[in-house]
Amino acid sequence: MENSYVWKPSSWYCPNCGTMTTAFRNSEGMMKVECSNKECNIVMVRTDKGRRHSVIDVYAAKLSEHCKKNT
Ligand SMILES: [Zn+2]
Repeated sequence: MENSYVWKPSSWYCPNCGTMTTAFRNSEGMMKVECSNKECNIVMVRTDKGRRHSVIDVYAAKLSEHCKKNT
């Protein structure tokens, strides 16, 4: 019963506009999703640090033209 820590979708509210968002975990335990609200359109990346600790990073999608990643 312990290890039902599988590929469940997670839902949370967008911190910017409050729209419910659903994302799926990738192999690194990260969830990346764009807000479905077209007027908001931010990108959220959620990382699970532990079973009771998640971090949600928020990126403004409109800024992506100006600050491209160097990766
Ligand atoms: Zn939003």
